[in-house]
Amino acid sequence: MTMTVPISRVAPDDEPDVLAPKSFEELGTSPEVTKVLAARGIMEPFAIQRLVIADAIAGRDILAKSRTGSGKTLGFAVPIVELLAAKDLKPRALILVPTRELAVQVKDEFIAIAKAKGLLVMAAYGGVGLKDQAKAASRAHIIVATPGRLEDLADRRMIDLSKISVLVLDEADRMLDMGFLPQVNKIVRRIPGKRQTMFFSATLDGEVGRLAKAFTTDPVMREVESPLQTVDEMEHRFVPTEQADKLDTLVKLLTEESGRTLVFVRTKRGADRLAYKLKGRGVQAVAMHGDMTQGARERSLERFGSGKVTTLVATDVAARGLDVDNITHVVNYDPPEDHKAYVHRVGRTARAGKSGIGITLVSPAERGDVGRVAARLSLDTEFEKEGMKVLPPRMAYASHRGRKSMMGRRPRRRG
Ligand code: ADP
Ligand code: MG
Repeated sequence: MTMTVPISRVAPDDEPDVLAPKSFEELGTSPEVTKVLAARGIMEPFAIQRLVIADAIAGRDILAKSRTGSGKTLGFAVPIVELLAAKDLKPRALILVPTRELAVQVKDEFIAIAKAKGLLVMAAYGGVGLKDQAKAASRAHIIVATPGRLEDLADRRMIDLSKISVLVLDEADRMLDMGFLPQVNKIVRRIPGKRQTMFFSATLDGEVGRLAKAFTTDPVMREVESPLQTVDEMEHRFVPTEQADKLDTLVKLLTEESGRTLVFVRTKRGADRLAYKLKGRGVQAVAMHGDMTQGARERSLERFGSGKVTTLVATDVAARGLDVDNITHVVNYDPPEDHKAYVHRVGRTARAGKSGIGITLVSPAERGDVGRVAARLSLDTEFEKEGMKVLPPRMAYASHRGRKSMMGRRPRRRG
């Protein structure tokens, strides 16, 4: 029997009353940790946290799926802090994340609560010296790392993974998308088989699902319904514009609507170019992409995060997992590759229950593809509001089962 409740679907074997408003303490969080959470304004657990924290503290393996911005980090950080003690052999817990930015963010989120129990946390990622990182890693209870750098440290025997008892794969889908599977496999093989494994992902379909099953033992499955929930909480606009007018259209948007805006472009060069052009037009903008040094990326992020600049121009990879508060607008200057990329991009706003605006600039050549992405997300109405038409699905999409927005309607052709 599968129990379906408005906010989540839970495994049939155990049916916690997920709707009951549970406090962190009721989920097994200690008074010390509850206190530091409260000091940071975190009073009540989010849905995914209500679903995983108690089981994770009990030592169960976890497969968790929920949308970006739903609070997954504390879903694993709180149990790990509860499970570890300062006197434990180090390093004890390993969190793998897809990007450097995310490594830093997850580490920072950990540090705040880890100090309640005297635990040390460090982040390991590429672009900085190996030696210092190895030294810091040997002193830390909790390591947050990108797979590439961790594999490098392990290969050189600069880090000892034999004491790891808790492993987390955060944004597992993204790690696979980014081609980290070989590194992840190698790392997992170096970690004792007798461990607790937690898998956090926006999707558990296909390859990610298989990996999740392979890495976990008798996991509890937890899912907060609708990875597209973000989409419902937001306003979505599709703005038709000639390719040559995109810059003007963007500048107009940025000046008319004040806010903190994340602008997505397709390429690293494109990010630099657009940030430069925006500055020329009087918009305070910085770029962030993978060809910049770690220091330069951190500076961009810091200037944007602190509000010194209002606009961050980023590539998909650079913005993955980014959690900057109060992003009010996400602009797709170049269209997202597919509906998943759209959700990930706009997921940078409307985080933690706040509402936000997603704006996609659509040139005539991009109409077909963007229209299909919109339809896939049931945003056809929004797309067509501006006088554009969603075209019939391509054959590749037409084979998808039960896509109401794609299949349930008669394809509308242009007159
Ligand atoms: P995800 O990993 O699911 O994308 P994050 O863990 O990055 O989401 O959380 C998104 C934001 O929500 C963060 O700024 C985090 O501090 C905040 N947050 C998480 N849990 C809570 C909570 N229980 N109450 C208030 N804010 C929270
Ligand atoms: Mg996350």
